[in-house]
Amino acid sequence: MNNIILINYSKADYRLRKRSHLGRIAAYKYSTAAAVEEPIKPAVNVEHTKLFINGQFVDAASGKTFPTLDPRTGEAIAHVAEGDAEDINRAVAAARKAFDEGPWPKMTAYERSKILLRLADLIEKHNDQIAMLEAWDTGKPYEQAAKLEVPMVVRVLRYYAGWADKIHGMTVPADGPYHVQTLHEPIGVAGQIIPWNFPLLMLSWKIGPALACGNTIVLKTAEQTPLSAFYVANLLQEAGLPEGVLNIISGFGATAGAPLCSHMDVDKLAFTGSTDTGKTILTLAAKSNLKPVTLELGGKSPFIVCEDADIDTAVEQAHFALFFNQGQCCCAGSRTFVHEKVYDEFLEKAKARALKRTVGDPFKSGNEQGPQIDSKQFDKIMKYIRSGVESGATLETGGEQHGKKGYYIKPTVFSKVKDDMLIAQDEIFGPVQTILKFKDLNEVVQRANNSRYGLAAGVFTQNIDTANTLARALKVGTVWINCFDVFDAAIPFGGYKMSGQGREKAEYSLKNYLQVKAVVTALKNPAWL
Ligand code: ADP
Repeated sequence: MNNIILINYSKADYRLRKRSHLGRIAAYKYSTAAAVEEPIKPAVNVEHTKLFINGQFVDAASGKTFPTLDPRTGEAIAHVAEGDAEDINRAVAAARKAFDEGPWPKMTAYERSKILLRLADLIEKHNDQIAMLEAWDTGKPYEQAAKLEVPMVVRVLRYYAGWADKIHGMTVPADGPYHVQTLHEPIGVAGQIIPWNFPLLMLSWKIGPALACGNTIVLKTAEQTPLSAFYVANLLQEAGLPEGVLNIISGFGATAGAPLCSHMDVDKLAFTGSTDTGKTILTLAAKSNLKPVTLELGGKSPFIVCEDADIDTAVEQAHFALFFNQGQCCCAGSRTFVHEKVYDEFLEKAKARALKRTVGDPFKSGNEQGPQIDSKQFDKIMKYIRSGVESGATLETGGEQHGKKGYYIKPTVFSKVKDDMLIAQDEIFGPVQTILKFKDLNEVVQRANNSRYGLAAGVFTQNIDTANTLARALKVGTVWINCFDVFDAAIPFGGYKMSGQGREKAEYSLKNYLQVKAVVTALKNPAWL
């Protein structure tokens, strides 16, 4: 069974699909009649549902559990431990001890690097089981998790494993008879809070740099999606990570996240999630011990299609930029600005593409879109759709639930969208494309920048000068030119304005997890220099 994933559809025949880039084969057994109605049971067991503290799976101190729900049905997949302040205290104490007494920060950087590489290898080996849990918990297509996300997690960990023994300070040419050097030291215990849209990928963006630099961690998963992180927790010992270095707590924001942010023994916070929660977290950090905070928050990213763009590519990429992951991406290209000369053609093709999008069970091969994460998000998105209609935008397609069960929404396209409409200003976080018209580049730059967010932008043009000028003029953390959502570990990611503080990934992320110490030594015999 090593290289075979067997997904049990309800009845009938088998189909073999080649998963070319991984060189493995998935065997699917499915029934055409039942596939739409009956949720397909993923071939993976939920084995780990307890908090991971000091190298052990343990119950919450309160004994409480809560259900993690299947977005296809709203029913419980499993019950997981509900961590709260007491569990955070236990986890922080374990992380503190592992930091202060070692061996993690005291280990050679090369040893740390080898452990991170072993963890990456183990995640790669368990790719399909992890991807199944991720798809089950989030509702994202299994193939997306298996072919794209888990391999990206592996890439991120290997990238930071490579950094571990390349982190060093400088010698400084200070004025005077001194030998001056800087030491780059780990900060200490990092508190990390991750969201539900890319649970394991966000875990890797956070633990990769923190561990490479020699920090220890208490990480809180999102209440909607605890399963993949617990699966990985079970691999840590085999990878050789000492106990207490990475502790994982499932629980809710107010009762587990907030105590982590306020904790006096946590030295640094990293958060990905909504802008409102980001503000709360910054306040908690300020009111406790002024721990530094990195924030990766919301967005309303412009996607600009110039009159000279290759329209078919732009249509496909704009579709991907918005609908990928059910529209649940902080950097979704959620304001599609199209030049007036190509607007009609673009709109017609964008609508046709949305109508072709395959929506359904994330475990059915070929489905591009699964359900939204939960009823709260579903209701919020439907409210925005109603607001779009009420404010006078034209609903070209979609706008309603797909099917009768679960949180599926039909791919939705609005045209004739104006900048002052709520659907053009707020982060909808769902499969709702809003298409706006522009006349000239000055105007579109001004309109694109007229947002409280500044996470990312897409620019589609064949003119190098237009591309370079827009890249410089847009007030965002990432500009993708003739592409979108390119997320290699070596590319920094983060936002301007209310989209965040600091950068994740790449070399930039290391400085979030390092203290710089200046060491100044008086020279006895400066005359020799
Ligand atoms: P959403 O509203 O989409 O669930 P959030 O930004 O609230 O997004 O959640 C992202 C993460 O932040 C989750 O892990 C959640 O539990 C956590 N969180 C929510 N509220 C708080 C809070 N007050 N303090 C700390 N963490 C929180």
